[in-house]
Amino acid sequence: MMALPILNGFVSAIGNTPLLRIPSLSEETGCEILGKAEFLNPGGSVKDRAALYIIEEAERSGRLKAGGTVVEGTAGNTGIGLTHICNAKGYKSIIVIPETQSKEKIEILRTLGADVRLVPAVPYANENNYVKVAGRIAQEIPNAIWANQFDNLANKQAHYETTGPEIWRDTNGKIDVWVTSLGTGGTYAGTAEYLKKQNPNIRCIVADPYGSGIYSFVKTGTIQIEGSSITEGIGQGRITKNMEGMPADDAIRIDDKECIRILEHVLRKDGLFLGGSVGINLGAAYKIAKELGPGHTIVTVLCDTGAKYQSKVFNHEFLKEKGILP
Ligand code: PMP
Repeated sequence: MMALPILNGFVSAIGNTPLLRIPSLSEETGCEILGKAEFLNPGGSVKDRAALYIIEEAERSGRLKAGGTVVEGTAGNTGIGLTHICNAKGYKSIIVIPETQSKEKIEILRTLGADVRLVPAVPYANENNYVKVAGRIAQEIPNAIWANQFDNLANKQAHYETTGPEIWRDTNGKIDVWVTSLGTGGTYAGTAEYLKKQNPNIRCIVADPYGSGIYSFVKTGTIQIEGSSITEGIGQGRITKNMEGMPADDAIRIDDKECIRILEHVLRKDGLFLGGSVGINLGAAYKIAKELGPGHTIVTVLCDTGAKYQSKVFNHEFLKEKGILP
């Protein structure tokens, strides 16, 4: 039996997640379809990594002092990661979240002890957008910092220094494609930059839901937004600082019908209960595998679990109302 190290609390348990081969999709396509099991992070999502790097950078730079407050605008997971870390390190958290996000995530944030501020979902251009509200709150409160995950490069750095190297190490460098969806872009861009540096032939592909402009940005150089998606935490209407200059060989758009089909498929066939953004990621990985043919290794991200979205992604009544299920 291989010994695992004893980890010192929440913070030490972040990262070093395994790559999970998805048996049903790998066998059907003849490719190795591998998902980085980010739902195994102690706060339950890929965002624990960015939350830790953002807080530790703020500590190092002296912006975040003992007993301080971390303020953030988030679709939920970054707020959850930040609040766990704040609890572990003696800080407070104020989390601004659009009221359209799943009630499960909002309830988790309240239980963890975050000061949760629900705001209407309005576009980034509007001064009342959740990201801008968070920035203003941080300015008004003494000894508070704004985590600013979208434009704070500590986010991308987390993935450049951890997610990318772990994938390179655990595949022994045998990886043909890196594909994942973007919210802030930290996961995609940081990992893509690291992998391209190891081997420029690794294809880095953006996966995008409808209602987002990154697909058109990669394809045409301009942001154009079409349609919408029930997925949360992904899709973007601007090029964030974390996305600036990111390598992108191609982009794939996956609709909600395919997202839900693949989530139900991996739940029934592989026993994997995964969140909405993972349906976009696995949908893209599957499509790429079909296009490339057998013998390729495709790596994507299993961002969080389905339990956070039972009321939406796994609720057939909701899906019928949205026209996603017949
Ligand atoms: N999936 C989920 C469920 C998320 O919460 C997020 C973070 N917003 C992402 C994917 C995208 O990660 P990133 O912000 O690193 O682009």
